[in-house]
Amino acid sequence: MRMSLAIVVACLALAGCGRLIPDAPGQATGPRPYLPGQTPARSGDALIDRPIDDGTFGRLQRATAELQTCEAVLGQARVTFSPTPDRVNSETCGLAQAGVLGPDYGTRARMAPASPTTTCALAAAISVWRRQSVEPAAREILGVGVDQIDHMGVYACRPVNNQAGKRPSAHSRAAALDFAGVRLSDGRRITVTNDWNTTTPEGRFLHRIRDDACKVFGTTLSPDYNALHADHLHLEAENGRLCR
Ligand SMILES: [Zn+2]
Repeated sequence: MRMSLAIVVACLALAGCGRLIPDAPGQATGPRPYLPGQTPARSGDALIDRPIDDGTFGRLQRATAELQTCEAVLGQARVTFSPTPDRVNSETCGLAQAGVLGPDYGTRARMAPASPTTTCALAAAISVWRRQSVEPAAREILGVGVDQIDHMGVYACRPVNNQAGKRPSAHSRAAALDFAGVRLSDGRRITVTNDWNTTTPEGRFLHRIRDDACKVFGTTLSPDYNALHADHLHLEAENGRLCR
């Protein structure tokens, strides 16, 4: 009894001494001041919530190569992604490391149509692009937020450019998104079809998010590429490094 009391006293004394060890800088107790760029981020935040730069595509590729890591990155950033079983639809078409991309609870804009089936790597790239480019660019250039991202689909069993005999499109692996435009929170609608070839703020917005996309996606094709892309941006997560 006396022994255990001695241990308790010793423990209390040690705990008390521990308090005297000065905290490391930035680790002070009490509410921490908000220091932009200095707050240690969780790994998911570090990827999805990190501003776009020349290293973004490489970081995404490394973090999304393994499905488990990719899912963790999305989960930590509050992006809903429900994996679907791998499946083969035909010799050139099927799903691997894919799932349903649901709501992104870390941001405002919603996808329309909702819940596309995408590879996990594409889901992560879309998440970076909408948080770090589409929404901030709209606020900066157009003065309002984005409510909705309109797209023309992800998964489609077809060859490149829909031409028979060409290699299978990234769409046949659910690895590319065709972006059509956005709806802003003030009701305005911006489309690649109507606004790309203008010098208006809407046109500048579309060119800005295309330029950003080139650092996020492996392949980014706009109306500048060919007439088949006059009404959308083709955004492909896989390696390719084509940007037009
Ligand atoms: Zn496409």
